[in-house]
Amino acid sequence: MTKRATQSSALVWLFVTALGCGGGDAAHGAPSSAGAPSGSSAADGSATASSAASVAAQASATQAPEDPDAPFEVIDLHVDTPYEVHMKNRPVSLPEGHATPDALRAGHYVGIVYPLYIADYMNHDHPRVADAEALLGTIDRILAAHPDLLHREGAGSAAPVTAYLSIEGGGAFAEDVTAIDRFIARGVRLVGLVHAHDSPLATSATGKDRKRGLSDQGKELGRRVYAAGALVDVSHMSDASFADVVPLAKAAGAPIVATHSNARAVAKHKRNLTDEQLRAIAASGGVAGLNFHGPYLRTAGKAKLADVVVHAKHMIEVAGIEHVAIGSDFDGGNPPKGLGDASKLPDLAQALLAAGLSRADVRKIFSGNARRVLAWQPAAPPR
Ligand SMILES: [Zn+2]
Repeated sequence: MTKRATQSSALVWLFVTALGCGGGDAAHGAPSSAGAPSGSSAADGSATASSAASVAAQASATQAPEDPDAPFEVIDLHVDTPYEVHMKNRPVSLPEGHATPDALRAGHYVGIVYPLYIADYMNHDHPRVADAEALLGTIDRILAAHPDLLHREGAGSAAPVTAYLSIEGGGAFAEDVTAIDRFIARGVRLVGLVHAHDSPLATSATGKDRKRGLSDQGKELGRRVYAAGALVDVSHMSDASFADVVPLAKAAGAPIVATHSNARAVAKHKRNLTDEQLRAIAASGGVAGLNFHGPYLRTAGKAKLADVVVHAKHMIEVAGIEHVAIGSDFDGGNPPKGLGDASKLPDLAQALLAAGLSRADVRKIFSGNARRVLAWQPAAPPR
């Protein structure tokens, strides 16, 4: 423990040194927003967010050419570690699983989205806001156990990995949609309205009533999420629910984000995105996060790391390089051999380079695009 802490401190010191004294979120900014497609509604919507980002972009423009050996930093939009700790008694030291401290360091993680995953079956007949509260407490315990590695967004810490919060399975908020405001105020950036089953707010990709879409209450929650400065997560939604989110996002000038969803044209699974949905995400300035769960990568046979590359290439072709990110589903899904935990992300980077992507392209997928959407703010100040 002591030895590990000492090593971590050394790593933190190296990291801060490498970044310069302005290290942390502000220095990261959102340089890739400068490359967002002009004329898209996203560019307008992210105008406020990019005032800070443009400073960072200008700063990066004056930097020396990039070191070809520099690691590809990772911002991962979906890592289910909190659920493992909360429901399966994994120790907060995170000694096992896909996203241990050592694996995050080896994978060059700089950002991780930890979901408050409110399982449909959690501990009652239906999930409740109190479950989300309890999960927030679990995430705080995880972060407190790793002060040299993890810090909450905006905490001003030198710890190298920024932890962002999301909600997966937001059906609990049917109990009280106004309760979402206080979770967003406490740092939740992304809100999903369903998980594997239909909720009173929306229908699920794997639910029973996939034709119905968002309920009035679901739409109210979606509008509330955007007004408070967070984003709706369309991963796990049915096609009808996705379609209902599109006008809500447009009205808010917000990017549509699917934190952990692949391409249905490559693997025909209901959890994956159609080309039409990928285009809607692109038009909004949003992203889809590549999911490493085997059944979403290929519908027959054993998935391989190469399958992730196939999905990435298709999603880039349909949506564009600015709209693909990483949403591993580590600690929630079953990643393929060769991409078995967070330490293997550099191998994915190499595979993408070998498939013809440029280093700049890989940086966008690994961190730049996610950073852009996580920095989104509404044009009107949040309530
Ligand atoms: Zn999920």
